[in-house]
Amino acid sequence: MIAIEVVGLRKSYRRWWRPGHEALRGVDLCVPGGSAFGLIGPNGAGKTTFIKSILGIVQPTAGTVRVLGGSPEDPRIRARIGYLPERLHLPGSWLAPTFLATVTRLKGMTPDPAANQRLLERVGLAEARGRRIGGYSKGMRQRLGLAAALLGDPELLILDEPTDGIDPLGRVEVRRILQEEVRRGATLFLNSHLLAETERVCDRVAILARGQLLREGRLEELSRGGALWTVRFAPG
Ligand code: ATP
Repeated sequence: MIAIEVVGLRKSYRRWWRPGHEALRGVDLCVPGGSAFGLIGPNGAGKTTFIKSILGIVQPTAGTVRVLGGSPEDPRIRARIGYLPERLHLPGSWLAPTFLATVTRLKGMTPDPAANQRLLERVGLAEARGRRIGGYSKGMRQRLGLAAALLGDPELLILDEPTDGIDPLGRVEVRRILQEEVRRGATLFLNSHLLAETERVCDRVAILARGQLLREGRLEELSRGGALWTVRFAPG
């Protein structure tokens, strides 16, 4: 099964003061089901734009996208995807259980308080469940976002910089959760500008720079060929 299939993807952002800026310039990519796939590249390479395009959040200028065998705009497909955005907008006055119950309903599922409590324990937020989200640290907000992405055991997890703002010990915990998800059979699509993080979690990687895919393949092949060095030096 192919989890994500992208052909000829282009995205131009129109800016009023200059002609369209091409953030993606003809990307082809195939992510096998069950893989732990890392998209890496420098800041501004187009990684977030790529993720938003495959989720149907931004409309591509050209190209085709198929996710889990269908359109990312189909609500039945969306319900099978867990997504952690780069920038989380969380309601500050809410408690974490309320937030998870609401996301569950938005996904068309029935909230299960016991399952949601287990999720909060899994991401290390069990003790913070009675505190308003507005008082959470950046790392805690990120963990809550991860819990929301994990709701309902999605087939495909698309995570944009999942350990952003999380302390080193927390990063280890997040990596452990991601590895558990892959063992469960989920496909993981991880966007990170941290090469070391991708190396620890992913078995396949794609390198994006200036809106183009430079290389794609198994991690050890790219490491052996020295291709991963491009990520450290390529400008966005
Ligand atoms: P980062 O790691 O810094 O988030 P990225 O690889 O995810 O970078 P994108 O956020 O996709 O890259 O941005 C790619 C390019 O598109 C950048 O030049 C960025 O300024 C531009 N861009 C992104 N979003 C918009 C937008 N909404 N309007 C205009 N330009 C945008």
